[in-house]
Amino acid sequence: MNTQRSESVRNSKPLEPGLYIVATPIGNLGDVTIRAVDVLRNCAVIACEDTRVTGKLLKAIDVSTRMRRYDDHASSETRDFLLQTALSEPVALVSDAGTPLVSDPGYRLVRAARDAGIHVTTIPGACAVVAGLTLSGLPNDRFLFAGFLPNKDKARKDVLNELGAIETTLVFYETGPRLERSLRAIGEMWPTREIAVARELTKLHEECRAGTADDLAQHYAAHPPKGEIVLLIGPPTDNAPTADPDDLLRSALLDSSPSKAAGKVAKMTGLDRQTLYSRAIELKSE
Ligand code: SAM
Repeated sequence: MNTQRSESVRNSKPLEPGLYIVATPIGNLGDVTIRAVDVLRNCAVIACEDTRVTGKLLKAIDVSTRMRRYDDHASSETRDFLLQTALSEPVALVSDAGTPLVSDPGYRLVRAARDAGIHVTTIPGACAVVAGLTLSGLPNDRFLFAGFLPNKDKARKDVLNELGAIETTLVFYETGPRLERSLRAIGEMWPTREIAVARELTKLHEECRAGTADDLAQHYAAHPPKGEIVLLIGPPTDNAPTADPDDLLRSALLDSSPSKAAGKVAKMTGLDRQTLYSRAIELKSE
């Protein structure tokens, strides 16, 4: 350990003024870092999404610093107050859990602080994207995190279509009530791609389940998932068996006309729409 590091672990220096982006645990409170505790204890004010949520963390780590509610829709007075304070004192920014700004508020504040020449620094720590990725067993040399999948069917498909050909593992945040529908949509497009569902990371009921989207959709239909979820889609692989166009058409015909089903499958596979339409008519009459 170098000297500078051991000094900061022992908190021998007062914090300099500025904005400190502080990651907090995503479940297990033991994941709070020594630097996070140091900054939260010694800063002038903590900007947080919800004072009740952050208040619980502060109680657990025995910190009594005052809090100020902040999100990206906060009034300009609140932002100005935080920026003014950060010019002369240390100000911490936290979110309810994990790393601020990652699908969480903070972007506008960081941007404004940088523009104002305020010292901005980060105290890294837990982040569900990374925790889920490392647990999933999916390739992680490259990955693409795309926040939450849209809730509406068409918008969700559009996003999957947009990202699907990229040769990386895709990572999304997801919620229990939406998981099954998302898995069904993924299964329609990529029946053979490897999927992982990482749930309740760092908590008592942490689990990571892998399989095809359809297998997982069936599982979660029978066992509705509770808690917080990271959904991961493995990269497309050359040797993965491609979906049988007949299977895709049959599935699309469940809720679409032959013409629409042919259009959907043409989009997914790049096959000729007219040929698919003729085949859809045959399958419909079988
Ligand atoms: N900024 C946070 C971070 O660094 O992970 C993420 C905030 S985002 C509003 C909340 C989403 O993160 C949840 O809906 C879930 O998808 C994911 N998440 C947070 N904690 C998690 C956990 N313990 N296990 C699995 N997913 C989690």
